[in-house]
Amino acid sequence: MDMKRRNLLKIAGMSAIAGVAAPSALNLLMKGNVQASSSAGHSDSPSDAHGEMPAEKPTGVRLGLAIDVKKFAENKGLAEKCVAACHQIHNVPDFGNPKDEIKWLWIEKFENLFPDHSHYKKNEELHQLPFLAVCNHCDDPPCVRACPTKATFKAANGAVIMDFHRCIGCRFCMAACPYGARSFNWRSPREKDANGKLKFIKDLNEKFPTRMRGVVEKCNFCAERLAENLPPKCVEIAASAQAMYFGDMNDPHSEISKVLKTKFTIQRKPALGTLPSVFYII
Ligand code: SF4
Ligand code: SF4
Repeated sequence: MDMKRRNLLKIAGMSAIAGVAAPSALNLLMKGNVQASSSAGHSDSPSDAHGEMPAEKPTGVRLGLAIDVKKFAENKGLAEKCVAACHQIHNVPDFGNPKDEIKWLWIEKFENLFPDHSHYKKNEELHQLPFLAVCNHCDDPPCVRACPTKATFKAANGAVIMDFHRCIGCRFCMAACPYGARSFNWRSPREKDANGKLKFIKDLNEKFPTRMRGVVEKCNFCAERLAENLPPKCVEIAASAQAMYFGDMNDPHSEISKVLKTKFTIQRKPALGTLPSVFYII
């Protein structure tokens, strides 16, 4: 998108937040303005819906991801492989310093992902495990409510995705996301060196767009691969170790539904009511 159009969108977006439309913009930020595909969390049974009693059975598709943390610990290097593959196919730039880091999928410590989990005695084993972090594709996503241009939205399958061309770089979505799942391009990922090669994208995937400076980005649940009936790249890589499960959580017969019913899982900050669609088997 050219700068003129981006600037126009920016002005339109900022006026919507700060100007005459302020009350409606505020309403947008309030919980419940994004249609949740299922108030029942991951279950088809109303009794175990993360403390909420759903009014009715879930309808439609709601994609979810379950990450088996111990399987990642047993398979050394698997988490790093998933991160590298995700970032390669999505042209995630590597600016070479933590300040400008762009992350779609990354490795975190337990205490950083689950600050609200307390242990009377610290479980040392748990705290050593490599936890993969990613956008939770929340069923009630505050980032979607915060975006003034609808650059980020929830797809019919429940994935929270972005139209990079509509992003005006206001970063309201970043402020709204309680999981640090979004990154901002402070520099241009398209910058080239003296030989005309991209400086920050080593192995360009021609099929996926590069972004420009001033754009937010994050995991898209591999929407482009799902469109071709392929699983998300990280899930494909983790499949041989059975370390990740992906599918429709509203389908009681799907593998992920069965896994979520039979294994103990936790979600990040469930008390916030965002209804994360990413689960950790621990
Ligand atoms: S984790 Fe953050 S970016 Fe992802 S859907 Fe939830 S609020 Fe939005
Ligand atoms: S679902 Fe796709 S975009 Fe998201 S972390 Fe996995 S590989 Fe990356």
